[in-house]
Amino acid sequence: MKTSYLSVVLALAAMSVPAMGQEVSSPDGHLRVSVSCNGGKPSYSVTLDDNQVIKDSPLGLNTTIGDFTKSLSLASASDVKTVGETYALPNAKKHDITYTANERTYTFALEDGKKIFDVVMHVDNENVAFKYVLYPKKEKRDERLACLVSSEATAYTMPEGTHTFLCPQMTPQTGFARTAPSYETYYDFDAEMGKNGHGRGFTYPALFRVPATEQVVNRKGKVTGTRQSDIWVMINETNVGGNYCGSRIEYKDNGVYAVTYPEDTEFGCVGTSAPGLMLSAKGAPTPWRTITVGRSLKSIAETTIQWDLVTPQYKAKHEYKYGRSAWSWIIRMDSSCNYDEQKEYVDFAAAMGWEYLLVDAWWDSNIGYDRMAELSRYAQKKGVGLFLWYNSNGYWNDAMQGPRGKMHRMITRREEMAWMQSAGIKGIKVDFVGSDKQQTMQMYEDILADANDYGIMVIFHGCTLQRGWERMYPNFVSCEAVRASENLAFGQYDNDIEARCGTIHPLLRNAVGNMDFGGSALNRHYSKNNERGTLRKTSDVYALATAVLFQTPVQNFAVAPNNMTDAPAWAIDFMKAVPVEWEDVRFIDGYPGKYVVMARKYQGKWYLAAINAEETARELTLDLTALFGAGEKLSLYADDAQLQGSLTEITVNSKKPLKVSIPCNGGLVIK
Ligand code: CA
Repeated sequence: MKTSYLSVVLALAAMSVPAMGQEVSSPDGHLRVSVSCNGGKPSYSVTLDDNQVIKDSPLGLNTTIGDFTKSLSLASASDVKTVGETYALPNAKKHDITYTANERTYTFALEDGKKIFDVVMHVDNENVAFKYVLYPKKEKRDERLACLVSSEATAYTMPEGTHTFLCPQMTPQTGFARTAPSYETYYDFDAEMGKNGHGRGFTYPALFRVPATEQVVNRKGKVTGTRQSDIWVMINETNVGGNYCGSRIEYKDNGVYAVTYPEDTEFGCVGTSAPGLMLSAKGAPTPWRTITVGRSLKSIAETTIQWDLVTPQYKAKHEYKYGRSAWSWIIRMDSSCNYDEQKEYVDFAAAMGWEYLLVDAWWDSNIGYDRMAELSRYAQKKGVGLFLWYNSNGYWNDAMQGPRGKMHRMITRREEMAWMQSAGIKGIKVDFVGSDKQQTMQMYEDILADANDYGIMVIFHGCTLQRGWERMYPNFVSCEAVRASENLAFGQYDNDIEARCGTIHPLLRNAVGNMDFGGSALNRHYSKNNERGTLRKTSDVYALATAVLFQTPVQNFAVAPNNMTDAPAWAIDFMKAVPVEWEDVRFIDGYPGKYVVMARKYQGKWYLAAINAEETARELTLDLTALFGAGEKLSLYADDAQLQGSLTEITVNSKKPLKVSIPCNGGLVIK
């Protein structure tokens, strides 16, 4: 009897790990993840101190080799191992990055006891990340090595009372020339849970404000009670290239946001919506899903989790230099893409001391290849490099702008890039590439890899959101994936709410990667004569502040040649000198939809920038000694109540914090 009792105990031990062994916490112990398997269904939950951040939420994959969302057991959990790395990233918001995290691998098995997938949990002090590693399914005669993943059980169950800042997914084959989806809808600000966007969920990054409590600590460090507070949670994913599709989240019910794959109708119905995995004994990993958690938005705005978890996919074959870029299209539209006006813009870029000019659509027919090579030679003599616009098509939408049919196939693409290299072209902006399908992700990756052979930097527009690409592809510059400046030219409503949208981008969209916004207009109207067209409601100091707050290593600014004479001299002088290769970032204060105060560092010097979208002026008390030295002389760009900007000199007072007021639609820069 004794023997059989022991064997039962041993069999149970082999089938499941004890409850105590299922947790993994952050190095500082505050953030904890628990993984379990109840009734054959794997799940996880996340807590910060005593607060629930993600309630018990399902895990699992449904694939063409089996449904691995149920009838499973948690076979084992590895020891916790500490992982970490120090790496340099010259083309993102932070150049020198170090992280330390705890990792634990949970192995799930089928009813026959054979392992089918691992869940790898990675927990640092501000992020939880997890991925699946799927193994071949051993059948009687053979092993199943090819696998499509039709859906996932993966979800994020948010606690009751959570508020959301979410960007609805666009309907495939809608929008301009059927180019959607491309991450260009408006974020909701502080919405209650319950909606599913426009019926098809939300794109990343997704931000949640979760109700919580925190300890009240007195001056002596003693806990005297608790108070109500917020925990900020950002959901995103990373390490998606040709290896997988991009996903999004759909609201189901009871706080559940479920991971969802692209729709069949995306990308003109080209390519499958189900991503594929090549299985082997080593296992095939899915992308990392990331949950950034913090008591303040600092954790979100400063996170580097999207790069910590990826590796460079190839080495840079050329040296890539970043810089400021002029761009005629945003003020003068398609008709400006002719030789004479682009030459005027080359002269303008040179006068500003900027490194680049972006030549937009129709240059192939309005300028032509030979004269473009001539313009490039002229620009190079003036120290200006050219970026050229391309239409990605293809046969997945009806966008007619040229050059068309060059970027979607390897043979034509490489021929085009060889011409670019011979003409000294430095970069491309590839437009109308909407969709998150694996086939589309493969095309993004192929364009980047080919461009690296010819020393070409790449901006994507009308596109997906990058997922770790700054580190994966060294010639990657940025994606749009935001309702960008073009909408300020297209319609008045976007100008009316420009500042409100501007307060969320540096905290959220720009937190996960470089953002091709194309802003900082100094024109009052979006038109060549600066008299007609949509009316800009934001101040000139706002334009300066967003040149700092919005980050990408090649900024296409909307400043126009006429601004040399019709904009304030201090604004032009600022834009001449503003850096784009920020080496560090610091969140100071803010609330999405209301105001934001952040600082970015360039060559060891901080630039503090702020904007306000609320009707009442935002009064700030700033301790400048946190960024600057006592007695240091600084430039202060500020607005009065009528949005009239000015530049004054201030001295850092270590005893007295600086009091400033930012009016609605106004800004502030201190450097
Ligand atoms: Ca766009």
